[in-house]
This record gives sequence, structure tokens and C-alpha cells, in this order.
Amino acid sequence: MSPIITRKMDAFRIFYDFIQLKEHMKHFGAQLTVGLVPTMGALHQGHIELVERAAIENDIVVVTIFVNPKQFNNSSDLKQYPRTIETDIALLSAHKNVIICIPNEIDVYPKNDPYSPITLGILNQVLEGKYRPGHFPGVAHVVHNLFHFIEPTSAYFGLKDYQQFAVIREMVKQTQLKVKVEGCDTVRDENGLALSSRNFNLSEEQINDALIIIDTLRYIKSKKNQFEIDHLLAKAKDFFNKGKLTLEYLDIVDAQSFKKVNNLNRKTVCCIAAFCGEVRLIDNILL
Ligand code: AMP
Repeated sequence: MSPIITRKMDAFRIFYDFIQLKEHMKHFGAQLTVGLVPTMGALHQGHIELVERAAIENDIVVVTIFVNPKQFNNSSDLKQYPRTIETDIALLSAHKNVIICIPNEIDVYPKNDPYSPITLGILNQVLEGKYRPGHFPGVAHVVHNLFHFIEPTSAYFGLKDYQQFAVIREMVKQTQLKVKVEGCDTVRDENGLALSSRNFNLSEEQINDALIIIDTLRYIKSKKNQFEIDHLLAKAKDFFNKGKLTLEYLDIVDAQSFKKVNNLNRKTVCCIAAFCGEVRLIDNILL
């Protein structure tokens, strides 16, 4: 990190469009490195760890807060998505060299949209791709446009959304954008529950019920050498069904290609999606 930047960077700032943000960033000169952390707000420690890593590796950090309508395949899910903008701003204001950008939909998706849709192939056909049609095309679109307008050096994403991370890497590869895409480990509560903005919509009792998700993933990992995959998954589903959640999927795929696997001789990931009441939760574990 260049010392001059630390001197130049003034107090914490918030911008509501890309033009003002870029105008502000111009003052730092072309040499500065910019780490981008795209979020949909309702921030928690999982987001903050992305911000902290970006701050270590870059001169400045831009955190975007934008609830992206294009990635919601269900309008009531979009409506119920938690919004805590004032707390988000307060949380981020404690961090040095962080700029917040809260763009409008018209900024992110202007009439003259720079995005040409890419082909996601199998990534869009399995797991989240299968159960949330339109979700990943919407994710690829928003992240592309954030990269296009903000022009970060690097961007930081959580591996809690493991398949999303693969989608973003694929988008960058196909569009040849010059952004380094970094993945950060899943941040969990002490009890093992993966932190998620959606947890804000859970009661205390539901948070307790939701622990069956991580318990099931750990169950699979602990028994992975004892059973064939199909048997392992069947046993894990029985285990999961002792809890109160409703399973959407539980599957093991190749951690790179997302193809179904017949054995665990390569790097694989076990992914799960389940409903806790009305709230849809996802998680994964590398096997
Ligand atoms: P979201 O606001 O849910 O779109 O998430 C913004 C970014 O934070 C994404 O890259 C997520 O993968 C990441 N993220 C969300 N929850 C966690 C978590 N528990 N641990 C690590 N990263 C996370």
C-alpha cells in the first residue's frame, strides 16, 4: 500500500452514483489499487471479513450496497430481503479507507447497458442454477456492471456462495475483464451456522433449528470414507429430516466443474439448500 494514499484518503464517504464515485477516486491517481466488495446490505461479520481482507490487499476499498432485483426469481423474496442501511453505514464507518457506494437501479442497469449475456452452461443447470432460474444470469449481470463502472483491481466474494463464486469467475473469464476475483472462507457463528443476511429474518428458535444444516454437512464429511456417495447422501438426508427444516437439495459435485461425481477421489463440494419456515438458506462444505 502506498503511504501517500493513506494521507490522501479523507474521511469515510458515501456515494449514490458511479459518476461521483469515479470522480472522487480520480483524486487518488491511477496507481492506487481498489478492492471491491459487492453486497446487498444487511451486513454481518461475513461481509466485514471481506472488507478487512480487501483493506489489507488494496489502497482503498469500495463496498457496494445494492439489492439486485435481477437475481431474485421470486418477488416476495425480494420484498422480504432484509434492509438495514443505517446499521450498515455505521458498521462500515468504523473501517479505514472504505468508500460506500449505494447506486440506483438505473445506474447499475443504464439504457446503454454494457453487458452482453454469457453462457453459464452446467453452472446454471444444477443446484442453485436449477432451483433458482434466472438467479445466476442476474448475478453475472450485476457483478459485470459493477466491475465495468467501478473498475476495481480486485473483488472479494464469500465461498459461502460457492457456486456464485464459480459463476463470477466464469463471467470474468468470458468477458475478459481485468479484475482479480478472490474467494474468502465462510464466516460462521460460534454454533456453526453460516452467517447470512437472511438469518435476520429467523427467530431464535429457528436459528437453533437451522443448525441442522451445518450438522448435516459435518455428518457427510465425517462419514465420507465409509459409504458410496448415493448411500452417504441417503443417510445424510435421513439425518437432516430428523430436524425441522424442509430440504430443497443436498448433493455432492466436482468443486470445479459442478458435474455430479461417483466417488470422492477429487476435490468435491457438498452443497445444501433448505427452507427454515419461509427463509431459504444455503451452505456448503468442501470434502
Ligand atoms: P450478499 O450481501 O449476501 O450478496 O453477500 C455479499 C458477499 O458476502 C458475497 O460475496 C457473499 O458470498 C459474502 N458472504 C455472505 N455471507 C458470508 C459468510 N457467512 N461468510 C463469508 N462471506 C459471506
